[in-house]
Parts: sequence; structure tokens; C-alpha cells
Amino acid sequence: MKCDKCGKEAVIFQKYSGMHLCAAHEIDDVERKIKKHMRQERMVIPGDHIAVAMSGGKDSAATLSILVETFRKRPDIKFSAITIDEGIEGYRNNSVPKVKELCDKLGVSHIIVSFKDDIGYTLDEMLKRERKEASCTYCGVFRRMLLNRTAREIGANKLATGHNLDDDAQVVLMNVMNGDIERLARLRPSRIQEGLVPRIKPLMDVPEREIALYAFLKKLPFYMGECPYAHESLRGEIKDMMNEFESRHPGTKYSVMRGFDSMVECLKEKYKQVPLERCEVCGEPSIEKLCQPCKLKKRLRIEKEKRDILS
Ligand SMILES: [Zn+2]
Ligand SMILES: [Zn+2]
Repeated sequence: MKCDKCGKEAVIFQKYSGMHLCAAHEIDDVERKIKKHMRQERMVIPGDHIAVAMSGGKDSAATLSILVETFRKRPDIKFSAITIDEGIEGYRNNSVPKVKELCDKLGVSHIIVSFKDDIGYTLDEMLKRERKEASCTYCGVFRRMLLNRTAREIGANKLATGHNLDDDAQVVLMNVMNGDIERLARLRPSRIQEGLVPRIKPLMDVPEREIALYAFLKKLPFYMGECPYAHESLRGEIKDMMNEFESRHPGTKYSVMRGFDSMVECLKEKYKQVPLERCEVCGEPSIEKLCQPCKLKKRLRIEKEKRDILS
């Protein structure tokens, strides 16, 4: 197949747009979508210091690369990279070097914060005694807290993540299927909460497979392995279902997000956002007196004491 724009060999067929694109035009198209989305949402403004959450996968690599390239001539906008090392043997130790390589290439400072140093256990250690289903809960709660705290500590005023169109459409559908509409409203926070660094998602308008292709075509260093604990079954089922729908009804992922965007304001009216308090133990922003990370830490401590007594 030939590129619809220049006649060169096509590398992708975008069913939803009906276009065949060559490598150069696919790169252009992905960058155009990201830049348009950043402009519409006024995502980056003069004086910003943006911390980019870097797992080492294709999404975070694409996010950092496009942000740095887009604002290369803007010395008033600063970028830093943060990697949370959860301590997952055979996974994170392979992806961290990829982040380093990309940061060196782009001239961005890179900070690594580990579960082991900060919480006292690697994720592997936490999960030795836990049901495996708990992995994403533990990992997500601690990772979110550490990303936010680190971004705040280095003086960043925004935190960019590599969520793409598929990620967001999956989350929307999952919350609908779980009947968790309040959580759906929380996907677009309306107020800036004290102590919480606002999030931006530059890749939100680009399908996952095009981000993968983009990272590959741009020869970005990234790690392709999957987290060994990635088995959240409902999420996986929804992902498969959406991909099947997308291939039979091109544009479904965009429609899900368009539908969500047009109802989110009503949802925010119904589920008002309450101001956060400070956790009485660690001082991080929290809905309850004790924040979720501190609750989980307490649980880990109790379990360890039990084990120490038994051994
Ligand atoms: Zn072309
Ligand atoms: Zn706390």
C-alpha cells in the first residue's frame, strides 16, 4: 500500500481516518495530534517545570521526547524525568537503563526513587505474603504517592504521564462497567488541590499502537517487556473487547472519549470534589486522616511483625 500523502510505501493503515501513511507522515500525524491536544488544553505555559513520569516503556519515552523536542527553543520551560523503581526483578532493572539512555540523549535530568529506599520493601517483597491480585493496588498507591511527592520536591508544577487513547478509553469503560460513576467524574479533576501536582497527559489523543510505531520509527530507547504482575483481569478483558470493537467499528475508542467528555461536566456537578486534608502521619494530601499509602505501610509492618514472631 502507498502513503495517501506522498505515494511512498505505507507503514500503517488508520482505519478510523481511512488513511495509509508512510513512516514520515505517520510521525507527522502523531506529533500533530499531540501538539493540537496540548494547545487545546493549554497544557504547557511559560515558566512551567514539568516532571515526566518515566517507566521506560514506549509511552513515557514518546512523551518525554515530544515534550523536549517541541519546547527545545523555550529556555523558560524545564523538564525533569522521574522513575519509580518498584523493585520488580527482571522488569524494572531492564527498563531503567533505557530511561537513562533517553534522558542522556535529550539532556534531561533523571531522578530514580525506589520502593525499597522509601517504603522499606521492594514490590516483590511486599507481594511474597500478599494475594497476587493485590499487586496493582500496592504498586499503584505507592507509585502515585512517590511520583507526586518527588515532583513537588524538585519544584515541578506539572506531572506528565504517558497515558494514551487506549488507556483512557479502557478506564472510562471499566468504571462504567463497575458502576463506579463517582470515580469516572474524578478522571477530570476540576480544582487544583494543595500538595497535589496537576497531571497532564499529552498522548491522550493517540491510539496505543501508533505510539508504539512512533517510538519505533523515531528509534527511541524503550523497554518492551511487560510487568510480570500485569494480570488485572477485567482491564485485560476490556482491552481485548475494545480492540475487537475498534477493528470492526473503527473510531470506537475516540467515540468512547467523546461521549465521556460531553458528560463529564454533569458528573462533576453531581459528584463535587471535596478539598483534601493532610495525612496525620506523613503530611501528604489525603481524603481521610490516614492516607492510603500509610494504611498499606501499616499493614505491611503488622505482617512483618507477625512473621518475625513466628520465625
Ligand atoms: Zn507519506
Ligand atoms: Zn500518610
